[in-house]
Amino acid sequence: MVKLSLTDLKDFYGKTVFVRMDYNVPLDDAGKITDDKRIKATLPTLEYLIKGGAKIVLASHLGRPKGKRDPKQSLKPCAEGLAKLINQPVAFADDCIGAGVAKLVAGLQAGQVLLLENLRFYAEEEKNDAGFAAKLATGMDIYVNDAFGTAHRAHASTAAVAELIKQRGGKAAAGFLMEKELKYLGGVVSNPARPLLCILGGAKVSDKIKVIENLLNLADVILIGGAMAYTFRKAQGYNVGLSLCENDKLDLAKSLLEKAKGKKFFLPDDQLETTEFKAGAPTRNTTGPTIAEGWEGVDIGAKTIETYKTEIAKAKTIVWNGPMGVFEIPDFSKGTFEVAKAVAQATKNGATTVIGGGDSAKAVKQAGLVKEMSFVSTGGGASLEFLEGKPLPGVAALSDK
Ligand code: AMP
Repeated sequence: MVKLSLTDLKDFYGKTVFVRMDYNVPLDDAGKITDDKRIKATLPTLEYLIKGGAKIVLASHLGRPKGKRDPKQSLKPCAEGLAKLINQPVAFADDCIGAGVAKLVAGLQAGQVLLLENLRFYAEEEKNDAGFAAKLATGMDIYVNDAFGTAHRAHASTAAVAELIKQRGGKAAAGFLMEKELKYLGGVVSNPARPLLCILGGAKVSDKIKVIENLLNLADVILIGGAMAYTFRKAQGYNVGLSLCENDKLDLAKSLLEKAKGKKFFLPDDQLETTEFKAGAPTRNTTGPTIAEGWEGVDIGAKTIETYKTEIAKAKTIVWNGPMGVFEIPDFSKGTFEVAKAVAQATKNGATTVIGGGDSAKAVKQAGLVKEMSFVSTGGGASLEFLEGKPLPGVAALSDK
């Protein structure tokens, strides 16, 4: 279902717009924002609403205050940071509901911006509580969601508030950031240019079972890396030494391998193995999938890197979730970075390339290749659930086009 976007909201001059943002930014001990990329990512939506003369009410969560007021997790620094970025004042409400907030909302003029205090100071937010949502929705004419990172959760600000505003005849639209996420991730799961190649890595098979199952139906080629490969290899009867392996998931791995029969489903043919999980430890490349006793796999091997690069070069659409090895330790990062470079090259050659959030996004950033990809998702959990084929509550709640 195609969802309403901001550009479909033609005339909203003087209307009060509730905008769910993701301002869950890192703060240092002094309450200073250490990375404002999440705020910057919402500027196109904000500038569009300001230009169109909306009265803008911004809402977000920050951290995990678990239903309690915690000054260390206040959104106030974001109001200050945002004001500098948009070069106009941003009013801050020290609560997200109540009479004080209602007064500030009522006092907004066209083009003015108000940021509410952390939604998660109320436990009702994460419970998608109807009464709390009604309070948040007081005085709101239009709903906009630009927080893809929380779209996989049915919370009051991502689901019930949108429903309430729609019930009153208002519209619920995707912000520009959300729209981009839906365009790129949606393009992977529906009608991708083929071959569609999926690269899956990371620590555990169990975290990604549903993604693997869904992608086995959609993808032309699947490349597996990371520690999850060892669970598959052990299920096939190979020795994996001291490698991270989910021994209680061997049956599951076997059933996934059964489903993958006849498909281009690649497991690493060789590994980088080490005796110690630390920088500077002895390493060697295995000659096959087997990992020696007393050794553990920490990255895909040299032969696998070449095979994966060849497959990547042939793909027209690529989605990547999860590193190929322990990329946080430079000695074990080659596989992940070589794959990142190959995906960047594929983008140059015309492929559409989508990086799922979380650790693969971190690796691409570390490799300095963010701009070389078609799109890097901002939502780790949300992008995984999207690739599982699950409807995201925060997307489902938006108006249809
Ligand atoms: P995930 O959150 O499941 O995507 O897993 C990411 C984590 O998996 C990263 O912190 C990697 O260091 C880790 N990882 C990847 N490959 C291995 C490996 N071979 N052994 C141990 N950890 C790994």
